[in-house]
Order: sequence, then C-alpha cells, then structure tokens
Amino acid sequence: MPSKTDGVMIILSSPSGAGKTTLVKMLSSIDNFEISISHTTRKPRHNETNNKDYFFVNEDEFKRLINNEEFLENAKVFNNFYGTTRTPVIDKLNKGKNVLFDIDWQGADQIKNKKLDYKLITFFILPPSKEVLFDRLSNRDMKDKLIAEERMKQFERDVLHWINYDYVVINDDIKNCFQKIKNLIEAEIDSGSKDYDLEFIRNHVNKLTS
Ligand code: 5GP
Repeated sequence: MPSKTDGVMIILSSPSGAGKTTLVKMLSSIDNFEISISHTTRKPRHNETNNKDYFFVNEDEFKRLINNEEFLENAKVFNNFYGTTRTPVIDKLNKGKNVLFDIDWQGADQIKNKKLDYKLITFFILPPSKEVLFDRLSNRDMKDKLIAEERMKQFERDVLHWINYDYVVINDDIKNCFQKIKNLIEAEIDSGSKDYDLEFIRNHVNKLTS
C-alpha cells in the first residue's frame, strides 16, 4: 500500500511531436513536482544541458549502470539508449515529492510491472489530428519532410500503446491539456471525481489510425 506521505510517480509518454516534453516542463513548475532526469547515450542537442535535460553518457557507462542494476527501467529508442536510475527517484518519493517521468511506452511498462510501493499515474498524450502532427513534425525543406514521413510511420506503431495507460489526453491546446492533466492528478491524489471520457478517446484513436 502506498503511504500518504510518499510522493506519487507520474509518467507521460507520447508519440513524437505530441508536445509531451513541454507538458512535463509545465507540470514541473507546480509546487512539489520534480522531473526525473534520465541517462542517455544520445548526443546533446544545441539547446540541451548535461545533468539538467539528461545525464549524457557513453555506451560503456550505460552498460556499467545496467550491470550494476542501477536502472529502474531502460530502453532503446530510435537507436539510442535511455534509462532512469532508481536511487534519485526513490529518494524524492520518500521525501514526499511527486516525480514526473518523460519516458517511452517500454519504460512505462517496466515501471508498471515493478509494482513499487508508490502510487503511479500514467498519461499518454496524443495530437488532435494526423494533419496537425505532420505540420508539427515537418519544416519547410524536403529533408525535414522525409523525416516527418518516417516519424508518421513510427506514430502509427506507437499510438497502439495508448490502451496500457491510465489516461489519454489530447494536446489540442497546450494550456488546456496541461490543466486537464493537472486536474486528473489532483483527483487521483485526493480520490476525487475524474472528468474523463474513455469512449471519446477510443473514437479519437480510431480516427488517428484510420
Ligand atoms: P529525445 O531523444 O527526443 O529526448 O527522447 C526520445 C524518446 O525517449 C522520448 O519518447 C522520451 O520520452 C524517451 N525517453 C527519454 N528518457 C527516457 C528514459 O529514461 N527511459 C525511457 N524508456 N525512455 C526515455
């Protein structure tokens, strides 16, 4: 049984381009919410800082962490390795902090299957339509269009995992979406009533995949 004084684990996953990273950053501004910083073997992007956005490590270091069983979960995503180390997460939860995870469906499955003694709430974020997603993924030149087409194919595979999450939220407007997630987290923590329509989501997924 999760203790009332412990923090809550909140996972956000989504296909690429649904706006999840922005939402995680917005949620981290709420009092007592902190982001879990992952390790990755991916190279930093120009706007990313080591030890803040990620712990950027090489494959040897990543393998060492796997062998030492330091990961709560780890997965290969788009040819790079990503993982969440256990100790910082457990420390935060034991101090009563709510921990936000920006991780993919493989990591979400692993954490779910661990059945830890902390409350877990999982969210899957979806774009409002395929057209909006394609626009978000593509820029003006042809090279970006090809990458966007590749990501659209990946989207068709990733979206199928929606069913394994507690809540699916559509990111039609970032502020609106943030508020919906915040309300659902508060309702879960306080055992309040939840404004959530599963049939609506099921129809939305059908539209996105047809
Ligand atoms: P990006 O390279 O664009 O930052 O992230 C690529 C994907 O990896 C995203 O879906 C992100 O949520 C996921 N990801 C980031 N950190 C982790 C992690 O620690 N574990 C897992 N399983 N996925 C992660």
